[in-house]
Amino acid sequence: MRLLKQRNDIVRFGKKLVTSGLTVATGGNLSVADRREGLVAISPSGVDYFAMKPSQVTVVTVEGKKVEGRGNPSSELPLHLALYRKRNDVEAVVHTHSLYATTVASLGWEIPAFHYLVGFSGKKVPIAPYATFGSDELARNVAQALKEFNAVLMASHGLVTVGESLEGAFTVAEIVEYLSRVYCQVKTLGEPPLLPDEEMARVIEKFKQYRHSPPEKTRGMKERD
Ligand SMILES: [Zn+2]
Repeated sequence: MRLLKQRNDIVRFGKKLVTSGLTVATGGNLSVADRREGLVAISPSGVDYFAMKPSQVTVVTVEGKKVEGRGNPSSELPLHLALYRKRNDVEAVVHTHSLYATTVASLGWEIPAFHYLVGFSGKKVPIAPYATFGSDELARNVAQALKEFNAVLMASHGLVTVGESLEGAFTVAEIVEYLSRVYCQVKTLGEPPLLPDEEMARVIEKFKQYRHSPPEKTRGMKERD
């Protein structure tokens, strides 16, 4: 079986999508790339995350041709592939309909730098215009909005995040969901002040250093923050 590690990761993080409340039932989808092989492992369409076996995870080429796996790849395959083609540093993609991110996306809003954790995405969380789910148009819209960010809200649909690993992309999805919830609360009370550009640049640089420091140090940092 090819891409066994990536398949196992998709099964593991698929369950986490449900247990962490980022999705319900079979909603949302995940993929991991193997850049050297030119292949992508992606969650299959319509399979319960708790029943999913590594053999059911679909493996496709970056052009979208199926190589291995029972069943069909997620209907958002064009979206995942567009993001891998758009940025060489993207190794994993997570797509969810998590409640608060979808609430913000359904208003057609982006999330500005109202909180330092927005730095996990970049200087903001941008929004991509609506297009039908699974369409090439939606893939194009999101790829265009991605630029240097790690998260994009999808108008009237949900959220997509990218990372250098599935764990990284998953963490960004969890943080954007948290930020979306706080942003919804804040907006019911008033207009939040925004952090200046140079402060966000400093925060983004610090997050980069944490990501590339040894695991023990990263854990310590997380606990303190
Ligand atoms: Zn979706």
